Amino acid sequence: TPLLALNDVVAGYGNLTALHGINLTVNKGEVIALLGANGAGKSTTLRVISGLITPKSGSLTWKGQAIGGMQPGRILKLGISHCPEERHVWPEMTVEENIELGGYLLNAKSELERRKDLAFQRFPRLKERARQLAGTLSGGEQQMLAIARALMSEPELLILDEPSLGLSPLMAQEVFKVVSELNAHGVSILVVEQNVHNALSVAHRAYVLETGNVIAEKDSASLLNDP
Ligand code: ADP
Ligand code: ADP
Repeated sequence: TPLLALNDVVAGYGNLTALHGINLTVNKGEVIALLGANGAGKSTTLRVISGLITPKSGSLTWKGQAIGGMQPGRILKLGISHCPEERHVWPEMTVEENIELGGYLLNAKSELERRKDLAFQRFPRLKERARQLAGTLSGGEQQMLAIARALMSEPELLILDEPSLGLSPLMAQEVFKVVSELNAHGVSILVVEQNVHNALSVAHRAYVLETGNVIAEKDSASLLNDP
């Protein structure tokens, strides 16, 4: 059973159909890339998974159970965490406060502290800047912070929407290194990426979207030979 499956998902905005029957799976331990040009439907696919958009038809399953029409808060409890494209950090709050917000569902303070320590271990740069306002971080650091915050729910599946957008190649490389490390620790990842080379550096498989359809599904070996 896949961790996550989309079965013939049709979805859109008002009268606009942005997804014309998408089929997609993420298995446990996989890094899956969603590739495709602007407007292909990548972000809409992620919004459907996160419960921000309800499909017009088709179904979603999580570990074999239907999860259609879920609210974003419940998705988080299932074990899915969505790190949106717009680098959502609260600029007027400190790095530490931003990270704490990612653990807002936790009841026990000790558990919050444990996860915060883990986050700071994983991102030493953020630890150095714990008391700094998030708005003063560089773009790459803000992306790391957004990921650190998304990890506070200890998700089984982390969804990343163009994490390398607007970053220098070096920073993008760092972000994808983090993605690989997280995957090595057992986190499954679904990442939207426009750059095939970036996707190749981490993904086991990729889906190529075009105008709301999956036009190809490739494993990393065939991506290498035929990008
Ligand atoms: P991608 O992420 O691949 O660039 P999107 O999923 O954002 O593509 O867009 C798919 C289609 O849905 C496009 O035609 C886009 O214009 C449209 N779209 C995306 N977001 C909205 C929105 N909030 N309201 C209306 N149409 C939207
Ligand atoms: P993306 O790659 O996520 O689609 P865009 O630059 O296309 O990024 O869209 C930026 C924002 O504008 C998104 O929040 C998206 O939902 C919204 N958007 C995109 N297309 C449309 C549209 N046709 N009508 C209204 N909002 C849109």
